[in-house]
Amino acid sequence: MTDQFIGGPTLPQERRLVTEIPGPRSRALSERRTSAVASGVGVTLPVYVTAAGGGVIRDVDDNLLIDLGSGIAVTTVGNAAPRVVDAVTEQVAAFTHTCFMVTPYEGYVAVAEKLNALTPGDHEKRTALFNTGAEAVENAVKIARHATGKQAVVVFDHAYHGRTNLTMAMTAKNMPYKDGFGPFAGEVYRAPMSYPFRDGLSGPDAAARAIEVIEKQVGAKNLACVVIEPIQGEGGFVVPAEGFLPAVADWCRANDVLFVADEVQAGVARTGAMFASDHEGVVPDLVTTAKGVAGGLPLAAVTGRAEVMDAVHTGGLGGTYGGNPAACAAALAVLETIEADDLVSRAREIEKRMLSRLEALQQRDPRIGDVRGRGAMIAIELVEPGTTTPDAGLAARVAAQAHQQGVVVLTCGTFGNVLRFLPPLSMPDHLLDEALDILDGVFAEAAPTDGGTA
Ligand SMILES: *Cc1c(COP(=O)(O)O)cnc(C)c1O
Repeated sequence: MTDQFIGGPTLPQERRLVTEIPGPRSRALSERRTSAVASGVGVTLPVYVTAAGGGVIRDVDDNLLIDLGSGIAVTTVGNAAPRVVDAVTEQVAAFTHTCFMVTPYEGYVAVAEKLNALTPGDHEKRTALFNTGAEAVENAVKIARHATGKQAVVVFDHAYHGRTNLTMAMTAKNMPYKDGFGPFAGEVYRAPMSYPFRDGLSGPDAAARAIEVIEKQVGAKNLACVVIEPIQGEGGFVVPAEGFLPAVADWCRANDVLFVADEVQAGVARTGAMFASDHEGVVPDLVTTAKGVAGGLPLAAVTGRAEVMDAVHTGGLGGTYGGNPAACAAALAVLETIEADDLVSRAREIEKRMLSRLEALQQRDPRIGDVRGRGAMIAIELVEPGTTTPDAGLAARVAAQAHQQGVVVLTCGTFGNVLRFLPPLSMPDHLLDEALDILDGVFAEAAPTDGGTA
């Protein structure tokens, strides 16, 4: 067997560039892609992958790149993580699918038990499994509407909840997610988010502002649920000011409105806690999980209060593939890995390492307006020095330069001016440090957008 098939942590843990990025084989594949794949599906960095694991991704030209993206916060335990590979291999050799709604299997039940135990709060819970984050969010709304007998849904500025019809309505940003895809689902209302860098409000003040909008424009008696990312993902890794989430959750409880935490990106050890809601002791009525939960196999979940979840009639929830046995085996292996390797602590170590380096960089470079995030979910927001005016051009140039040097980074944010870092928790320190060294160098060389002096 050639090295072609070696992935996971057995891949050499080094950055190694043997061609320009992308190399000739990747460029050839890009040409095939252009004539075969719909152009609406975008690509951030067109290197074609043959293996990944630890902290690296290997491409078809034999380059090794440092992975600060985790496939958008998915391979939290590492790519091709050994326990995941073993569990999935064993499962697919036994059976690949029966449909849980036809003839069920233990893996689904075991994942539900685990998520019921790990999500915030020690009340009685139930879980239903789906395939994608968007599907989990849609089902959380279905359940909340059914349980409350109410219809309205409140979401926030900068929110991202997915690309299906209902979740497009819930997502804030027009381009590229919504433009031309309407009409969107009704009864979705938007409230102002706490965004400390931009609004300067305390958590309680930002919550009061949001609650006033909700009361005046929607009314608690019409409102089924408030859906919020406890740390926003695509919207810019916005960490709400302390006190914002508890105040919104308290208002919901006092007004018979369900509080739904969309933990699809921030959940499952990513932020240095099992769930991002845990940082402020917030106990949501419903929690959605997906990205990090199954190591790259498609799995998503809604977990919540037993009486809310069980309000739905039998047969009202489900789907052909939801809780597929291979994905359930992967999820059990992911949760076991997080516990056995204490990856929650590892996420906190990564936070310390990244924040100290990025804050030092911010001291030297006034174009970095804000450094924020928790655990291995860290971002820098780029602005014109001394202002909050977004500099999306700089973010794009820095990302492109990092890609050229073999570091996979992603951008995000309503204004496109946020660089986000989502290393897998299997990232070795020496690669994380090297990636940060490269970023330092890219910032030192990146010309100011307006051509003036930075
Ligand atoms: C990615 C994401 C979704 C959508 O998940 P998909 O699996 O892409 O459908 C929903 N909510 C949040 C917070 C996300 O980050």
